[in-house]
Amino acid sequence: MRIILILCSNLLGENSMIFMRTDNQNIKNKLSFTQLILVSSLALSLLSSSLFAEEVNVYSARKGYLLQPLVDGFQAQTNIKVNVISGKAKVLQKRIKQEGANTRADVLLTVDAGNLYKAKEDGLLKRISSPKLNNLIPKYLRDDDGYWFGLSIRSRVIMYNPKNVESSDLSTYKDLASKKWRNRICIRSSSNIYNQSLLASIISNLGEDYAEEWARSVKNNFSKDPKGNDRTQMTSVVMGECDVTIANTYYLGKWIASEKDNERKYAEKISVFFPNQKTSGAHINISGAAITKHSKNEVNAVKFLEYLASDKAQKLYAQANHEYPIRDNIPVSEIVQSWGYPFKKDTLNLDELGKNNSRAVMIFDRVGWK
Ligand code: FE
Repeated sequence: MRIILILCSNLLGENSMIFMRTDNQNIKNKLSFTQLILVSSLALSLLSSSLFAEEVNVYSARKGYLLQPLVDGFQAQTNIKVNVISGKAKVLQKRIKQEGANTRADVLLTVDAGNLYKAKEDGLLKRISSPKLNNLIPKYLRDDDGYWFGLSIRSRVIMYNPKNVESSDLSTYKDLASKKWRNRICIRSSSNIYNQSLLASIISNLGEDYAEEWARSVKNNFSKDPKGNDRTQMTSVVMGECDVTIANTYYLGKWIASEKDNERKYAEKISVFFPNQKTSGAHINISGAAITKHSKNEVNAVKFLEYLASDKAQKLYAQANHEYPIRDNIPVSEIVQSWGYPFKKDTLNLDELGKNNSRAVMIFDRVGWK
């Protein structure tokens, strides 16, 4: 029996269609009753997936595996189909810009408040007034004007090699500028938004002059030129090429939970330190979402964001990537808990990270932090 089911869906996955073709017109007669029932129920179940009453289109800089359980949960709860296009943060923002009024994107899901601030500045986003979102999301984790909303928290902390560093040697980001760390720090390049946002927070907390002094002194303490991402620096710490780095917490979470032996082994050789616990708190950033200016499904998009901010979704969302939920009442993953939770977070309004971004980039240039 040759029955070919061709499932055609366009790029966004919506408007799915099913074609059934038989090579032999008489094949129907040859099919048993049970086979017919089986074929019909398969066709029906495939068809039903395209029978959502409504839809929402998401451009996502977040990995598919993080999003899937949430997409499934939202679809089941609302009968609104979620179509996801994945890509790099910068590429997706550029795409929304180029597509202009014709964009199919309703929601932009991305990381770093700096990226969301830029999207707002570029006029890509729509102002949203949702009392529910304002209630669910602490004020410092969302845009003052309602253009973007934080949905998970990550902390940019100190990670160190416990063989060479005592935790009592560590205290603040400020301390990393001291001479005792000469030739002992490795950290990624300043072209990365995570470091730009960290410096932007230092500008807000301690002033631009101090931020420049800090960046210059930390740069003087580098054991090597910045190259590679956070995980590259963490590997250098494990290998003893440097003693401390600054990296996002979830990367260590991924190592600890990894299926790869070498990553799990590396994870045992590096420790987390939350800086500034007696001062302003550890620097945090978000992954977040916004609704596009030209969204055609705004009501559904708001519902999707409200779902992502709900207790149910928060639990899944933060745990899937070993991040932190946006409210302290939601449990964190066991791995995250093992580093100590709750910790003192810097509750600087994250809008500041975007506002200070260009000043941070100029400081990095001036001090020669590549
Ligand atoms: Fe990252």
